[in-house]
Amino acid sequence: MVSWPRQYGGREASLLEWLVFEEEYHAAAAPVRVGQNGLFLLAPTLFTHGTAEQRDRLLPPMARAEEIWAQAWSEPDAGSDLAAIRASAVRAEGGWLLSGTKTWSSRAVFADRAFGLFRTDPAAERHRGLTYFLVDLRSPGVEVRGFERLDGDEGFADVFFDGAFVPERDVLGEVNRGWPVAMATTGSERGLTLRSPSRFVTAANRLVELARSGSLDSAGLDSPGLDSAGMDSAGLDSAGLDSGVRDRVVQSWIEARAYHLFTLEQVTGIVAGNSPGARSSLNKLYWSELDVRLHETAMELLGADAEADGPWSRGFEFSLAGPIYAGTNEIQRNIVAERLLGLPRA
Ligand SMILES: Cc1cc2nc3c(=O)[nH]c(=O)nc-3n(C[C@H](O)[C@H](O)[C@H](O)COP(=O)(O)OP(=O)(O)OC[C@H]3O[C@@H](n4cnc5c(N)ncnc54)[C@H](O)[C@@H]3O)c2cc1C
Repeated sequence: MVSWPRQYGGREASLLEWLVFEEEYHAAAAPVRVGQNGLFLLAPTLFTHGTAEQRDRLLPPMARAEEIWAQAWSEPDAGSDLAAIRASAVRAEGGWLLSGTKTWSSRAVFADRAFGLFRTDPAAERHRGLTYFLVDLRSPGVEVRGFERLDGDEGFADVFFDGAFVPERDVLGEVNRGWPVAMATTGSERGLTLRSPSRFVTAANRLVELARSGSLDSAGLDSPGLDSAGMDSAGLDSAGLDSGVRDRVVQSWIEARAYHLFTLEQVTGIVAGNSPGARSSLNKLYWSELDVRLHETAMELLGADAEADGPWSRGFEFSLAGPIYAGTNEIQRNIVAERLLGLPRA
């Protein structure tokens, strides 16, 4: 990761430099990073809550993609209400024994390790008796059972723990104080780090190119898209589009640009020392709903071709999951209402 300290293989890029790097990464249509759970979710949490020993041991293999991480939080009866988790950990000599079931764990099928929350004090108030563990998925007592997602992705899994041993050194943060550590991870997941704006700016540019050409083949990944100097340069006027579709294409492009500007404002705030906190819920609402609209417009443009398997149809299917993962959008709206607008609790 270019933003990491040099001692961990990074280049100490500032947040703004990192955004520029991401712009180029997406514009070049570089692949999804297989190690993204570790790089974008766990690593920022290790920098704020981990020990030096944990960083020294875990970051280098993560950067080299030698150790792939999965997020093992959700349970069959604890998704939105994460504090309802029942998977537990009890003390053993030199560490902990984990039991219970986690589900919806992306990439767990081929992951080496997982970060997860387990209940360590059943008598405590439900947010207070949780501990954040870093688990070796290959250890005895762990079974990862994959299942296929609607969009064909095969990395999804249930993870079963039956007395799996985790050494003391793999507790992240304090015992029974895992909730604030987990909230630091969700800040990364909903906000900037997992979903940099360039991902959507690039998709919006591709949408403009699709609208211009009207064909799957010419949905070029290196499309220049619209430029702010003049919409005519897009050639949308001459593409013979229905005016409603044309407006939706332009709207998606505007929304992607607006998200880009919003994140620049947010980064300016972070550089000045302000934590995004609950504002990361705004990011999550915005990027996930923008992504659905953008892909719906692409499907409309493609017409019958939309059924063909390809980047647009796969992107459309995946966009539908955006309002669910990283905390559903209904939950994000509750957070915005209560913590940003100060409205009474639902
Ligand atoms: C593609 C994808 C990848 C995922 N990857 C992972 C992963 O890697 N690791 C992981 O741990 N989890 C992962 N998840 C799980 C995801 O975090 C959960 O699906 C999500 O938190 C919702 O939980 P749930 O499915 O149990 O739904 P529920 O919590 O049962 O919610 C059902 C519905 O009720 C609504 N609802 C619930 N409570 C409220 C409330 N208080 N107010 C208003 N509405 C409410 C929800 O918004 C939702 O519409 C993934 C999910 C998807 C779709």
